[in-house]
Amino acid sequence: MNTLSIGENIDLQPFNTLALPARARYFAAIDTTDHLTEALNWAQTKKLPLLVIGGGSNIILRGTWPGLVLQIALQGKKMQRGNEHASVTVAAGENWHALVQWSLHEQLFGLENLTLIPGTAGAAPIQNIGAYGVELSQFLHAVRGYSLDEKSIIELSAEDCRLGYRDSIFKHALRDRFVITEVVLALRTQFAPVVSYPALREKLQGGAVTAQRIEQAVRAIRQSKLPNPAQLPNAGSFFKNPVVTAAHYAELAARHIGLPQFQAPNGIKVPAAWLLDRAGWKGQRRGHVGVHAEQALVLINYGGGDADELLELAQAIQADVQHRFGVTLELEPNVYGN
Ligand SMILES: Cc1cc2nc3c(=O)[nH]c(=O)nc-3n(C[C@H](O)[C@H](O)[C@H](O)COP(=O)(O)OP(=O)(O)OC[C@H]3O[C@@H](n4cnc5c(N)ncnc54)[C@H](O)[C@@H]3O)c2cc1C
Repeated sequence: MNTLSIGENIDLQPFNTLALPARARYFAAIDTTDHLTEALNWAQTKKLPLLVIGGGSNIILRGTWPGLVLQIALQGKKMQRGNEHASVTVAAGENWHALVQWSLHEQLFGLENLTLIPGTAGAAPIQNIGAYGVELSQFLHAVRGYSLDEKSIIELSAEDCRLGYRDSIFKHALRDRFVITEVVLALRTQFAPVVSYPALREKLQGGAVTAQRIEQAVRAIRQSKLPNPAQLPNAGSFFKNPVVTAAHYAELAARHIGLPQFQAPNGIKVPAAWLLDRAGWKGQRRGHVGVHAEQALVLINYGGGDADELLELAQAIQADVQHRFGVTLELEPNVYGN
């Protein structure tokens, strides 16, 4: 059996898709649950703060992390097929996109709209990943992981995870208190297409709609709009879509003709990209960082940028949107460091 290896003063630039310069005082890649418990005990004895990462596609790293960074690399999956659903248990370090491809190959349905989202399966519940009308919450059955409070591996039901729009208990009460080791999904054995997004419907015109066609169409739309982090370092959407009251929406729509709207459980969701676009942020550049020219929600590190420069740009955008529309934009990625 291989032993746990903990590195010191490790460069984290290759571990975040924004390619921000950052370091870890201690770092370990975790590929067994025994190593996970060993590393957690070690950090606790030394009273070190813990940072858990997967693929680093939704984090903003600042400076040197003063404690232990654990990169979750647990691998493996199991499937049990029932009549209507198959139960799929996936280790947290499995690549999300590869999981989507695998599920379609196994004739399991539901994840096709979530293709090409970067990162790991274990991070998917953290912000309840979503795209093109589908959210993880529709397929999540349970999450297993190490509870730092209970000092053991426990299971949380999907309900316990309190999934909401880009939100979960792991961003609140369990922030930095729970390391996800496995995700249990209930995937459909029968295909039920979700084609509520106009761009997707348009791409699918002509011929029968299959899960494979949806996957290909979503992939094509994403590739045409979203920059590849390997070429233009980014973390996907930088801001969540704000949810406003019906009265606020009516007032905004009267002043801004064509403002799109989507129903949300707690109000009306307005596309942040539309607001940024209207405010003229698309393609703007400040020093080493900027707003993507094709998609205003994506902030880019053009090379040499750091977290401070990026967050300054984000703050300028937030202040401008607040001033123009009276709408508060919240950051989507998680910020770590002082
Ligand atoms: C080009 C691009 C497109 C994107 N498109 C979408 C999209 O369409 N929809 C969407 O929802 N997101 C999108 N994202 C954001 C991102 O891909 C997702 O949030 C993804 O789930 C992050 O996975 P990760 O493994 O990279 O997590 P990381 O960035 O490593 O971590 C994200 C958060 O999860 C925590 N975390 C990670 N693993 C664990 C674990 N095992 N246990 C406990 N906590 C953990 C971290 O501490 C951190 O708070 C996009 C990002 C990029 C770069």
